[in-house]
Amino acid sequence: MGKIWRSDRVKALCEKMGISSPERVIVQMASQLVQAGKQNTPPVSLETLATIRGIREIRKVSLTIDGYITPAESGYVVYVNSQQPFTRQRFSIAHEIAHTFFFEAAGVQERHRAAEPPTDSLHIDSEEEALCNKAAAEILMPYGLFKDELRTKRLVARTIVELATVFQVSIRAAARRYCEMTERRFLLLALKRVALPEGTRGLALDWSEKPGHVRASPPKSLLVPESAPLFQTVDKDGFFTGRQSLALGGQSEEYFVDAVDVAYASRTTTIALVVLEPHPEVAIRTWALSDPQFRLVG
Ligand SMILES: [Zn+2]
Repeated sequence: MGKIWRSDRVKALCEKMGISSPERVIVQMASQLVQAGKQNTPPVSLETLATIRGIREIRKVSLTIDGYITPAESGYVVYVNSQQPFTRQRFSIAHEIAHTFFFEAAGVQERHRAAEPPTDSLHIDSEEEALCNKAAAEILMPYGLFKDELRTKRLVARTIVELATVFQVSIRAAARRYCEMTERRFLLLALKRVALPEGTRGLALDWSEKPGHVRASPPKSLLVPESAPLFQTVDKDGFFTGRQSLALGGQSEEYFVDAVDVAYASRTTTIALVVLEPHPEVAIRTWALSDPQFRLVG
């Protein structure tokens, strides 16, 4: 069941913490950092957390990568790509903060290695990279704060957008976190407007997220035609709640969909929640995330 971890740096971190699961270690370290920084309301102050981790400065510069961290006098400097959207910069900073956990565990020599020029060679340890992304999610959307925020919100598409705004993360990052923390059954689709060859328009799949226990997956080729109620209504009103036929697994079937339009990465994206519960209309009215079905997964 458990993944085999090969990275020496990952092993060093687990050893130092006396915990065998790297994922658990990294989430715990991120969570302790958020507590040490007394972050009780979103958005989390990355400057505060960076300072605690010995990061002397966060420099926003033009880069060909998202960001990197390098040793500086008695600490580190983080460089982040100023060309990226604000929310992505925040994710990059949180990711680089997480690298300091590994540097610390690996000792001085490893820390020196991180001083190499900012090339891909800095990011060769894919296990460490994946764990830094996991830590970044915990830093930006701490479990306790995220859960508190959800208590007063219903499980509808608009909630995802609100969470992204409150935590200053991308809609996709908020969607992924939300999916991690519920046992409800749904798919979240981000749909973009496309022009079709026959002169009509449609909604095509940009990305999707779903809770781990949901089997259904939207095909990459998923297309909602201009004639569909979902397209017609979001195009006119900016939101939609109702039945829509979708080809999620081969043949078209009718699903209950709750959707909202957002200006996202300088274009209009439709965020659609496809409810997979047996009584979707009831579910969408009553789904509050404070119910017992809401829990931490993993
Ligand atoms: Zn990295």
